[in-house]
Amino acid sequence: MTFTVAIIGRPNVGKSTLFNRLVGKKLALVDDQPGVTRDRREGEAHLGDLTFTAIDTAGLEEADDASLAGRMRQQTEAAIQDADAILFVIDARAGVTPIDRHFAGLVRRASKPVVLLANKAESRAVGLQTYEAFGLGLGDPVPISAEHGEGLSDLYDALREALPEHTAAPEEDEFEEPEGEERDENAVRPLRIAIVGRPNAGKSTLINRMIGEDRLLTGPEAGITRDSIGIEWEWRGKPVKLFDTAGMRKRAKVEDKLEKLSVADGLRAVRFAEVVVLLLDATIPFEKQDLAILGLVEKEGRALVVAVNKWDLVAGEPGKLKKLVEDSEHLLSNVKGAKIVPVSALTGDGLDKLLEACFEASEVWSKRVSTAALNRWLTRIVDNHPPPAVSGRRIKIRYMTQVKARPPHFAIFGNQLNELPDSYTRYLVNGLRETFELPGTPIRLSLRTPE
Ligand code: GDP
Ligand code: GDP
Repeated sequence: MTFTVAIIGRPNVGKSTLFNRLVGKKLALVDDQPGVTRDRREGEAHLGDLTFTAIDTAGLEEADDASLAGRMRQQTEAAIQDADAILFVIDARAGVTPIDRHFAGLVRRASKPVVLLANKAESRAVGLQTYEAFGLGLGDPVPISAEHGEGLSDLYDALREALPEHTAAPEEDEFEEPEGEERDENAVRPLRIAIVGRPNAGKSTLINRMIGEDRLLTGPEAGITRDSIGIEWEWRGKPVKLFDTAGMRKRAKVEDKLEKLSVADGLRAVRFAEVVVLLLDATIPFEKQDLAILGLVEKEGRALVVAVNKWDLVAGEPGKLKKLVEDSEHLLSNVKGAKIVPVSALTGDGLDKLLEACFEASEVWSKRVSTAALNRWLTRIVDNHPPPAVSGRRIKIRYMTQVKARPPHFAIFGNQLNELPDSYTRYLVNGLRETFELPGTPIRLSLRTPE
């Protein structure tokens, strides 16, 4: 099912850059019709597994006739009218300007689903300036960088949240629904798992083994579907969709591009997935590429499970698992506590444990902590270890709340929080992780200081 999204905002906030990123650089589909649509570009946009029509309203700022404001307004209103949802873009560096407020008013009046994007937020500290964005009345700002391609998975989540009926997994839509019967709102979506790891870690073997096991239990091909990006099947009655990077890589012919390609494919799979299984080779764990993947998992905010494959080759070595867990501790610092599961794709040992760990990780990743519990904890932890004073003034932490899940994202409000040392932020994140049992997931923390 397809839908239309309008990219709205004042000139220069990065609408075209975002449009180009979603639609692709080639712009083969740019529509340059004369007449009313002259100032508008439309194209087929791709974001994760979503495909939709994007409308870009940029380009007007170049026309310097007197009626510019009027035309801009007209274009914006027309685009809003044609859209199922709106991406409202502001410039996180510049903060909210009166023209932003003007455009926000148009958007609010339309009463359509809106995602508020704070663009140019490639360095995290910039997030502080977006505090005032809450005042636009368009919900929580999602920080992105259209130019650097950051925050797209948050945009993906926000868009799905804004338009649940358009973005439901396509497989759910394929079924004809009997007249008059409501769709089951609680229909279980498959858990999306990406299997990533360097070449030869055993990804293909693992996936074949997973599906093969199932086939033994349920008969040939039962419940297994494949599409270009994934394989869907059921594990213990629960739907799972696997994203496999191995197949993509094997199509690559040029040997010396191998490493680069597999990282790019890894990124694609990581973006599709909720849970990432980093598949290590027990005989050479934590190589450079594995670390690159860990970085992606943290950056894209996915849940992590580490599978140590080819365990059949090292199972005899005493202390091997203990050593791996120790070694991994600092490597996994941003996704601390991720389960480490020894497996053998060859024999099938450990695969049930691995899938169990994936479901657990996704639960942690989706967890919501009540504001009351957070603030009780915050008072205690700040009393135990107050933040330092900066140039004679004490940093004050006042209040916190969870603004999002998948991954858990908390906002802390207070004074001078931009002065908070990284060590203190880590203290808070580690405390959150321990107290609220959030192992194996990145934790986001926004610091917000009102003006
Ligand atoms: P539009 O007028 O809203 O369509 O804005 P453009 O897409 O033309 O972007 C305006 C300027 O902002 C250009 O110079 C872009 O290169 C820059 N820009 C766009 N996105 C980003 C971003 O994520 N980070 C930074 N630093 N600059 C960006
Ligand atoms: P991919 O490149 O990550 O897809 O890796 P493959 O699945 O092609 O596996 C690479 C090699 O490792 C093949 O020779 C497999 O037979 C072997 N392999 C995969 N899993 C295991 C395992 O659990 N134990 C052992 N001993 N070998 C394995």
